[in-house]
Amino acid sequence: MHEHRASLRCFFAFWPDADTRLAIARQRDALSATQPSPVRPMRDENLHLTLVFLGNINQQQLHQAQAVAEQVRAQAFEWYLDRYGYFPRPKVLHYQPSHVPAAAEDCQHQLNTALQAAGLPHEQRSWVPHVTLLRKATAASTRQAPRVRWRVAEFVLVVSRQQAQGVVYEPVGRWPLLNALLGNN
Ligand code: ATP
Ligand code: MG
Repeated sequence: MHEHRASLRCFFAFWPDADTRLAIARQRDALSATQPSPVRPMRDENLHLTLVFLGNINQQQLHQAQAVAEQVRAQAFEWYLDRYGYFPRPKVLHYQPSHVPAAAEDCQHQLNTALQAAGLPHEQRSWVPHVTLLRKATAASTRQAPRVRWRVAEFVLVVSRQQAQGVVYEPVGRWPLLNALLGNN
């Protein structure tokens, strides 16, 4: 196999820090317990929020995508996951911010526009920010969603690999957002 010819399944995402990840995982477990039949929970290490799904690209395109990411100049921000949502067709139960700050939209828009300008795969549909919690969920949640604060100071590029134990996400680049005036709490 020539790695430079190999096809890599890639996406840009916001990646939760360890504390936020733990808080999201707790809500995933609480929700899972209320589902009428067995679900497929997202593993802790896989919890993420997709910015742009690129799909299968080659090594050269991956380098181009990394160069595009360098061009993004968006502000760091914080938001709150505070609402559960359900996509009935893929049976996905997810966690969403009910308010999406302008900086978040700006980051996604800059990235997607620059990908398009570079002739790379990009998202055609409008962005629906969400963190998938459960697959094979058969019911929307009626629980009140607790608020999880998430301070977003960077975005990442991830390669998604299908392995025996399930999908494994490997970050292959991270880019800071601007002016991260973020304290420790
Ligand atoms: P699996 O497909 O094995 O269940 P997964 O969905 O977590 O695992 P990927 O299919 O590689 O892993 O998807 C990576 C990310 O990209 C996920 O957030 C997924 O929702 C999103 N994604 C996948 N396919 C598309 C698509 N066609 N359009 C938009 N986003 C997609
Ligand atoms: Mg998938």
